[in-house]
Amino acid sequence: NTGMTQEWLQEYVDDWVSFYRKHTAEGEVASYIPALKEANQDHLGISIIGMHGMKIRSGDVDVRFTIQSISKVLSFIVACMQRGVSYMLDKVDVEPTGEAFNSIMHLEMKPLKKPFNPLVNAGAITVSSMLDGETSEEKLQPLLSLLEEIIGHRPPINLEVYESERESSMRNRAIGYYLLETGFLDSDIEVTLDTYFKQCSIEVTIDDLARIGLILANDGKDPDSDQEIIPRQVARLAKALMLTCGMYDASGKFAAYVGIPAKSGVSGGIIAVSPPRVRNEPLPFMDGCGMAVYGPALDSKGNSTAGIRLLRHIATQWDLSIF
Ligand code: GLU
Repeated sequence: NTGMTQEWLQEYVDDWVSFYRKHTAEGEVASYIPALKEANQDHLGISIIGMHGMKIRSGDVDVRFTIQSISKVLSFIVACMQRGVSYMLDKVDVEPTGEAFNSIMHLEMKPLKKPFNPLVNAGAITVSSMLDGETSEEKLQPLLSLLEEIIGHRPPINLEVYESERESSMRNRAIGYYLLETGFLDSDIEVTLDTYFKQCSIEVTIDDLARIGLILANDGKDPDSDQEIIPRQVARLAKALMLTCGMYDASGKFAAYVGIPAKSGVSGGIIAVSPPRVRNEPLPFMDGCGMAVYGPALDSKGNSTAGIRLLRHIATQWDLSIF
């Protein structure tokens, strides 16, 4: 009985959220973009949407926050859909860096290498330059339309965060101009940077992110309509990148201890994807789901302290590891 199972799981998740909330005190809200400092350090929420009707929401579920680095997954997906996967893989690699997300170090390696992966800033700025369009508005239209198709409405761009990020963007400008000098960008540098700052400032909720996770879990298809929203090959590639490079320089640990593709952002969101493992059989209720947590208090790597612990606990309890 689906209703009973859901109620029963809901009680567990509620308990886990209350238990892990104390870990928000161990982290710190991001402050290098001044507008992010306004987040409430104590917040913790989770949303889970399963392929077979499961919906569980717990904690601070209605907070709106900016998507930040999680947008890097989406811009890469859109660029692959526009340009083709092989074109994109020619421009950015798929290797973890082991360095901070905004590291400049690898860009100077000799012989010159393409950016390590699209989920760190150098790779993501390169991807933003590859999106079709002459202006940042034009470049972002297809990304916002894809989001609209998945979450049912066009998400707004938080202008306060956008302005704040633009004004405190010295390092990203340095990365962008370095990429320009070394010939990696396909568009005007200022348009590229503006696109990147705007995509980071798209405002979402954990329900929105869980829905995106669900589509990725189902290899790009909407499980309700069976309609393909993201090509299967692109969805697979996005998940491989999330698993190897999605959690900053703690991606290895997250793969080892949680074991599912995920991407975090400095505003405290994490999108996580649990692909179904049992195929063509009556599926267990929670097999195959999209999950998202929000907890703006971050650890030293930039991941939500309480969010990571909550995901790890759920993945262990429900045996979600893809390995
Ligand atoms: N807008 C942020 C930056 O590039 C995104 C960082 C993140 O979420 O990791 O600084």
